[in-house]
Amino acid sequence: DIALYAAKSAGRDGYRLFSEELDRASFDRDRLRADLEAALEGGDQLRLVYQVKVGIDDVARGVEALLRWQHPVRGAIPVQDTIAIAEETGLIIPLGAWVLRNALAFAARWPMLTVALNVSPVQLRHPGYVASVLELIRSSEVARGRIELEITETALLEDNESIAAKLACLRAGGLRIALDDFGTGFSSLRHLHQCAVDRIKIDRSFVAAIGQSEKATAIVRAVIQLGHALGLQVTAEGVETEAQRQFLVEAHIDELQGYIFARPVDEALFMVGGDKCRRWRLVADDRLDAAR
Ligand code: C2E
Ligand code: MG
Ligand code: MG
Ligand code: MG
Repeated sequence: DIALYAAKSAGRDGYRLFSEELDRASFDRDRLRADLEAALEGGDQLRLVYQVKVGIDDVARGVEALLRWQHPVRGAIPVQDTIAIAEETGLIIPLGAWVLRNALAFAARWPMLTVALNVSPVQLRHPGYVASVLELIRSSEVARGRIELEITETALLEDNESIAAKLACLRAGGLRIALDDFGTGFSSLRHLHQCAVDRIKIDRSFVAAIGQSEKATAIVRAVIQLGHALGLQVTAEGVETEAQRQFLVEAHIDELQGYIFARPVDEALFMVGGDKCRRWRLVADDRLDAAR
């Protein structure tokens, strides 16, 4: 029967194609793993970029350090891919230490700023994590209160209790903890209840919906009030428009971050804005572009 034969051979080809793609994908991943390990050993493929966070007066309060990996052959690797590979292989432990060391070096050069960095749940679950963070900061001589660790809500999904205990240790040691991408995770309120944190970062998706959706606008207003009722600072991430900025300021936000102020930039470019212009909203992106 010709029809059946056609279907079978298509199925077989389909299968073969699929498995070839899988092979290629896993080969790619193995290569990338080895490449990331090599990048960690030295050279300039890995770097941090810094995105300013401002108060309602547009004055810089601090920065968030964000990882970038410039692969010699493949170019810029999306940071989520880098983190996923690092998490799968355990390389997130040395990579996380690399991020912290470099963020601390930045903090030492910019004493007027706080420095926030992102932490993966895999790092938090690692037994030596808390001690290694405290030791790295101690040896850097940067005041602990200037370093903030950003944890996404999804980090808190598993093993909530022991992670809450680790966060408590880090806070007792003087570091600050921020709940990143707030509102996107499961049971956001439970996390707020069970984990002592210093800051909530309202997820960009809610900020983007300000003025577009009545519900989202009401949620943003309520999250700011909730944060304040719990004695927390509240930051809005992904602020892109003047209308969003204005709404957030009127709703008593504490800190703002987003492309309307500045994109994440190399430290050298950061100096252009940071030194000359206290008011980041007035640092037009074209000014940074000119320096680029
Ligand atoms: P995140 O911590 O929520 O960081 C904010 C992301 O939003 C950054 O993307 C930033 O460039 C982007 N962003 C900031 N302002 C705006 C805006 O106004 N509009 C838009 N559309 N985007 C904005 P990025 O750098 O690609 O990082 C993505 C995520 O990767 C981060 O989300 C964080 O979860 C993770 N990540 C970055 N660096 C590290 C790291 O060193 N360690 C770990 N574990 N994760 C990291
Ligand atoms: Mg973050
Ligand atoms: Mg975020
Ligand atoms: Mg985010």
